[in-house]
Amino acid sequence: MKERRSPCEPEAVWKEKDLSGGKTVDAMVIIFRTNGCVWAKTGGCTMCGYRQASLGGVTEEDLNRQLDNVLFSYKDEPFVKIYTSGSFLDECEIPMGIRQRVFREFAGCERLLFESRPEFVTEETVKTLPRNTTVALGLESSDPEVLERSINKGFTPDDIRRAGSMIKNEGLLVRTYLILKPPFLSESEAIEDAEASALFADGFSDEISINPLNVQRGTLAERLWKNGELRSPWIWSLIEVMERLSGKVGARLMSSPSGGGSQRGAHNCGACDASALEAVERFSFSGDPKDLRASCGCKDAWIRGMTAERLLGTAADLDRGLNNELIIQK
Ligand code: SF4
Ligand SMILES: [Zn+2]
Repeated sequence: MKERRSPCEPEAVWKEKDLSGGKTVDAMVIIFRTNGCVWAKTGGCTMCGYRQASLGGVTEEDLNRQLDNVLFSYKDEPFVKIYTSGSFLDECEIPMGIRQRVFREFAGCERLLFESRPEFVTEETVKTLPRNTTVALGLESSDPEVLERSINKGFTPDDIRRAGSMIKNEGLLVRTYLILKPPFLSESEAIEDAEASALFADGFSDEISINPLNVQRGTLAERLWKNGELRSPWIWSLIEVMERLSGKVGARLMSSPSGGGSQRGAHNCGACDASALEAVERFSFSGDPKDLRASCGCKDAWIRGMTAERLLGTAADLDRGLNNELIIQK
């Protein structure tokens, strides 16, 4: 039987480390249950399974109760990150009264981060934001064709640039999210795309977070993956992107791969996944490219795979195809 989720409780709350003002600090992460992303209701992005995390019929009172629950776990962490599986600045997800209460409750923390689609970043909304705000913008790719055809994002890179510049002009911070390897891009195309996108985002971002594709349930990405038409990126590709960008962008580069080390998330051969992910994590905090050093014999398979993809002109999962493992994976 499907678990009934309460609209009075947040989807998740946890603690982790992040950077604030150049220092590693404790951070609290909150995922509110809301009525969901407005874009997801019209089909949404090809890799996004957030529709599953929203409920529908969530009232302002429910959100107040969720916030009460969150405050029980709050131990004055200096960094608070709020996700809604959509846009914090969308009135239909987070009504103004809740937004203002969040700003009051977390007025004392160093950094308050929340995400939004660019259409909700307007002159009016930006003026209401407190000084400790970081707005997270999901650019994903700076290539308009990739945004439209691979991701179905519903906005253009220029929309994000406009939103990012507006936030920066108010003296607030911007964290930009990029995707590494959306559907239909081969491994080498994905590396090029993420590199170009970070250079584009650097003009209006304080931080650039690179998210390798994680195959979520009920998405187009999952359908392609089950058919063997898609492989989540190698962790080597993520390391390659970070190496290429290190020293070339002013923004902090970071990545915290969801599902990393699993078949659905960024993965290598299995034996080296944990150490390669540790290298990414170390670099995300230090910014020192020496921290990206990792090695394994499977690097050759990664390089051979990219050559084969180029020769065959395909983004399909050759690894699984050649090993005759086109089985439906759980
Ligand atoms: S990725 Fe973001 S904008 Fe796209 S459907 Fe999901 S929540 Fe909405
Ligand atoms: Zn390996």
